[in-house]
Amino acid sequence: MMSVAGCIVYKHNLWLVVVALLICAAGSWVTARLVLRAFATRSRQRMGWSFIGAVVAAADIWCTHFVAMLGFEPGVPIAFDPVLTITSLLIALVGSFAGFLLATSQAANRLTRAAPALGGAVVGLAVALMHYAGMLAYRVEGIVIWNRIGIALSIVFAVSISGLALHLAGAAARRLQANAASAGASARLVAGVLALAIAALHFTGMSAFQVVPMPIDGHFSNPAALHALALAVACMALVIAGAGCVSFLLDDSVRAESVEHLRTMAMSDMLTGLPNRASFNARIDAELARTQDTRKLALIGIDLNRFKEINDLHGHHAGDEVLRILARRLSSLMREGEFVARMGGDEFVALTRFASREELGDLLSRLETALYRPVRYDDAELLSGASLGVAIYPDDATTKTVLINNADLAMYRAKADLSQSVCFYEPAMDEIARARRSLTHDLREALARGQLSVHYQVQTSIANGEICGYEALLRWEHPRLGFISPAEFIPLAEENGLILGIGAWVLREACTRAVSWSPPYKVAVNLSPVQFAHADLPKLVETVLVETGLAPERLELELTETTIFADRERSLDVLQRIKAIGVSIALDDFGTGYSSLDTLRSFPFDKIKLDQSFISEAGSSRQATAIIRAVLALGKSLGIPVLAEGIETEAQFTLLADEGCDEVQGYLLGRPAPLSHLVASGQLSLLADDEQALSAVRG
Ligand code: C2E
Ligand code: MG
Ligand code: MG
Repeated sequence: MMSVAGCIVYKHNLWLVVVALLICAAGSWVTARLVLRAFATRSRQRMGWSFIGAVVAAADIWCTHFVAMLGFEPGVPIAFDPVLTITSLLIALVGSFAGFLLATSQAANRLTRAAPALGGAVVGLAVALMHYAGMLAYRVEGIVIWNRIGIALSIVFAVSISGLALHLAGAAARRLQANAASAGASARLVAGVLALAIAALHFTGMSAFQVVPMPIDGHFSNPAALHALALAVACMALVIAGAGCVSFLLDDSVRAESVEHLRTMAMSDMLTGLPNRASFNARIDAELARTQDTRKLALIGIDLNRFKEINDLHGHHAGDEVLRILARRLSSLMREGEFVARMGGDEFVALTRFASREELGDLLSRLETALYRPVRYDDAELLSGASLGVAIYPDDATTKTVLINNADLAMYRAKADLSQSVCFYEPAMDEIARARRSLTHDLREALARGQLSVHYQVQTSIANGEICGYEALLRWEHPRLGFISPAEFIPLAEENGLILGIGAWVLREACTRAVSWSPPYKVAVNLSPVQFAHADLPKLVETVLVETGLAPERLELELTETTIFADRERSLDVLQRIKAIGVSIALDDFGTGYSSLDTLRSFPFDKIKLDQSFISEAGSSRQATAIIRAVLALGKSLGIPVLAEGIETEAQFTLLADEGCDEVQGYLLGRPAPLSHLVASGQLSLLADDEQALSAVRG
């Protein structure tokens, strides 16, 4: 200590001051990272990170203060009160913890924005309290003089700058969450401001502290011992900061590992471990983006042939095992640049770049060998086999969707063709399939969009030329393709069950309209074999009749022999039940199918409809005429009236009249037409009082 013109000048041990500042900087940086981590986590984790942050912050603040105090040389013996010294450390710990908890809390909504700054202020207050508790523990032989303004200023600095530090931390945490900031830069900024708060407090606080030395026993403290103590404290501070640092580095690597684990899980198939659909999508996107690779890209769609059978016969365990084993085989046969994934169910897909057809052929034959080798399961040898469809980029498609679609189309063809398991996309063949799929897709919506309607074709008695009834024939007016024949779309509707809804609609529509016909002619409605197999047809017919109020005798259902042959017993039972309601049954297109006498014998049909092909050939083919005669004779002997379809000419009409046919239907007598046309042309009248029916027809 020197006294110059009444001033007291203290010596500072510069090295210790530098060490204190280093501790302050390092500790603040680790604290900032920990606090930012606390901001980014929730509930217990947040508490944990706040606590570790508080431990590092307390060590940082306290050690900075302690080492700086040891570097402060008042020139008189000094001592430290142990209780107060420890208390000051505890104040730093508890205060920082409380401050961090408050700063990172999100519970109180209105406080949320201000919480970080308030928490920071609490930390600042703790720093100040710690400092002054530490100063009280600092015993010197002399008179201590405090400058109140300096004290107040130091507290204001600590509180406001700490508040700012945590406010910045809160804002940085929000930006980090939105990925709009770098963690390192944010931590450096927060650490800098936090270090400034600690240093500002300490050095402003120390300037408010003066000692007028009054040595009592003339003994000075042993400076070497004090320096050793300072270094020990500094080391401890660095150890604690290091521990804090390691904790979040560990956490970082655990996080990275779990993110990697999640990523692997998200990209691979749980059952087989192969890459999944998401992974395939990423891969094909990457391949298609690699424009500098001039080699072609082959996409191979793979679908197992008998997987359902294996599942049904041997259980799902066996199915899973087959998938696992095949997947293992597929992945082990992959060479560099080749890729295989499971798309779900029994569908796989392979992807490869190739320079020559041989190269691609080699992969295909490896795939085939693997898929056609039997799989052992328990004592059984399971053979699933597979169909492979290949589409090539850019030859067959220039976009991902079309490429996948075309590989699928080729695969469907391979599936349908028993003689080959690999099919390459061929536009001519596969386009038919595509058109069918697209038509099926449109058909799904046709009914709801009002594109379906029913036309009616007259059926006439030959004996007296009177109308006996009308056949209801379905029509589809496609918005783009125009009129589509039922011969084309009914099979599609049958393939996927759409016919059930459509058929029921036709039945209801025809009955609803027929109710108001005058005179009350019969209405004939065609039925599909699918309706027989899947729907409770007698119930539907009964319900529709009740709902529409049509008398059962006025309804005739037309079905073909195919319907009966599909499930003879059931069909005959269904027919009996329908007949019991009072509805009549006609056998349509007779002569084209099995033309089995047994069919005619086993069920009392109300009408046989002779197929139009015989009529059109009658003029040119003697066989056709012979068949017409035979069928008419058969009808006579069984007592079933025969209606001839497709009468287009007077000659045909005369022939059938001469041969004794009962009824005719064909363009000669009337083309199928909408009800409104029939009414307008006077062929059909509606009950005058049936307003609703009239307006419906007009509409
Ligand atoms: P179908 O039941 O044998 O109906 C007679 C078909 O012959 C109708 O064809 C009709 O337009 C046509 N036709 C009538 N007179 C003549 C003629 O003089 N010359 C020629 N060349 N053809 C004539 P459309 O309407 O195209 O129906 C074809 C088939 O579609 C029907 O044959 C029937 O099997 C089926 N179909 C029509 N509507 C329905 C329905 O609502 N449900 C079911 N399941 N099938 C239906
Ligand atoms: Mg018919
Ligand atoms: Mg017919």
